Amino acid sequence: MRRAIYPGSFDPVTNGHLDVIERACTLFDEVIVAVAINDQKQPLFAPDERLAMLRNAITNDNVRVAPMEGLLVEFAASENAHAVVRGLRAISDFEFEFQMALMNRKLDPDIETIFLMPKEEYTYLSSRIVKEIAKLGGDVSAFVPPQVAKALARKFRIKLGEVAPIT
Ligand code: ADP
Repeated sequence: MRRAIYPGSFDPVTNGHLDVIERACTLFDEVIVAVAINDQKQPLFAPDERLAMLRNAITNDNVRVAPMEGLLVEFAASENAHAVVRGLRAISDFEFEFQMALMNRKLDPDIETIFLMPKEEYTYLSSRIVKEIAKLGGDVSAFVPPQVAKALARKFRIKLGEVAPIT
């Protein structure tokens, strides 16, 4: 069984992430999308929201979405996965990804990181830019699944105090 971990914040999932997942599915028997929940990045969406949006958007049966706390290499070992998938959009991604891949190799030499390039039209897409557009009231429907576009609109209306959060 060839199993890979695709880790990230997914705050929120974009069509670029989904493109990487589809590509990873052609290479591995199972892809585990690992949502980092101890992120230092102050995510917009809570872990449960990020997990639910991913589960909703992914149709492939060979993909599992799971929360991940702690070290990636430990998570990978606990799932019996020997590969980590990351997406590369542009040269600007390279330096950080290179450092992380080599650090992870140092921590666990059995785990190999592989990089996948998305469709050209997604190379300029990031969760951060999607959040910026949505915050300013722009249309993000070409960049994220429909339920994510809705969740973004709602999140920013809650932040502006226009609607009450669901409790
Ligand atoms: P991070 O792990 O930096 O929080 P994300 O959760 O946004 O990043 O993304 C997880 C992985 O997906 C990273 O490898 C990132 O480079 C990749 N990725 C994000 N957006 C895209 C995209 N549009 N196309 C390809 N890969 C992407």
